[in-house]
Amino acid sequence: MAILKAEFGSNAIPVYRGGAANAQHVGPLLSSVNLQSSIMATQSSIANLQPRLQAIFGLLSVADDTQIRSIFRQTDEHLLELAQHFGSHRAGWEGTGLELVWLPSGQIEVSSFVGTGLDGSHRVDFIVSLTPTWASSDFPTEAAWEIEAQIQADCQHTTNHRSMHLVHELPTRRRSYPIDSALALRDMAAELLILGRDTPIEYWLQLAGDEQNERER
Ligand SMILES: [Zn+2]
Repeated sequence: MAILKAEFGSNAIPVYRGGAANAQHVGPLLSSVNLQSSIMATQSSIANLQPRLQAIFGLLSVADDTQIRSIFRQTDEHLLELAQHFGSHRAGWEGTGLELVWLPSGQIEVSSFVGTGLDGSHRVDFIVSLTPTWASSDFPTEAAWEIEAQIQADCQHTTNHRSMHLVHELPTRRRSYPIDSALALRDMAAELLILGRDTPIEYWLQLAGDEQNERER
């Protein structure tokens, strides 16, 4: 998810997600934009297309680039293992795991998601993202990256909010170096894998229902 509505400040735009009301599935960065904008978002598989990672990290040495791509491959393995646990073999839009996702605004992230569910209105998404601070803050003064992992579930409230709700979130990690950022992303994907394997999806769905306090709309 990475970029929350609140972080847009004066440029706040509606959160749009698919879920119960919409068959269309909307993932990470796109969760923060409206439908019209999300159509213009672009994502490329890091494994397949090997996009330049400088887009998100700035200047990199050859050695650092190689190491980060290796860490990203390990991250893909965690994500695809989670997908496999749910009987799928896809993570992210392109199916391979991590993707570079960017918007016409210039906001960019490395992210992926694993989707599962009981049916079209009982979906659960496991989401990881790595976002440079300049994507969520206008003029940060030092390079840093924020790594997030979330679980979102289709609204199960009696009053249908026609959205997915954030039902679980690992503490956001902030790192000052590209390799450290990639390692944090890999580790959080591994934590999501464990959570997903050890917890029935019904648990996440009930957290998006009436027995829980409404955490967000
Ligand atoms: Zn709801």
